[in-house]
Amino acid sequence: MIIDKSAGIDTFVSLRNMNMAKPSETTSIEAAGNRLRNAGYRVTRQRLSVYAYLQTSQSHPTVDDIYTGVRSEYPNISPATVYRSVGSLVDVGLVKPINLGHAATRYDASPDEHAHFRCIACNGITDVHIKDTPDATDQLKRFEIIGSSVEFYGFCSACNRDRSTNSATHAESN
Ligand SMILES: [Zn+2]
Ligand SMILES: [Zn+2]
Repeated sequence: MIIDKSAGIDTFVSLRNMNMAKPSETTSIEAAGNRLRNAGYRVTRQRLSVYAYLQTSQSHPTVDDIYTGVRSEYPNISPATVYRSVGSLVDVGLVKPINLGHAATRYDASPDEHAHFRCIACNGITDVHIKDTPDATDQLKRFEIIGSSVEFYGFCSACNRDRSTNSATHAESN
């Protein structure tokens, strides 16, 4: 379960009482609307379209990417609306943020427990299915854990090919 850090204790309680989607179950758009409504969010077609877009996207898009993707269907949608919609979806646990330090946060609507591979050259993120997620150890007991993520990083095959081509070019010029 992911809870936005800015979410107050009321949200935390309502999240716990809510029917959280079990892993591997995709939440229908209708159920997503209900969950938002129960948490006190206004449910609009635009807000739901952001969720629908995230459900179909495999690329772990940024808010900007989502805005670009949704705008074809909703030409009047504003970046601020997309930003707020994503925030509400994170708040109710339908979407997980992937925090990448100084790079723009990416978003993931996959309900499956999974890890990520991130290419450090092109920032592409690929889902990786892993058998076990790490257990919270005793050392974590004194912290309030709001989520966990497993990330592998390195070079994707396309970037790796570019790298070997480049090093070959360098070798020739030396
Ligand atoms: Zn890459
Ligand atoms: Zn993912």
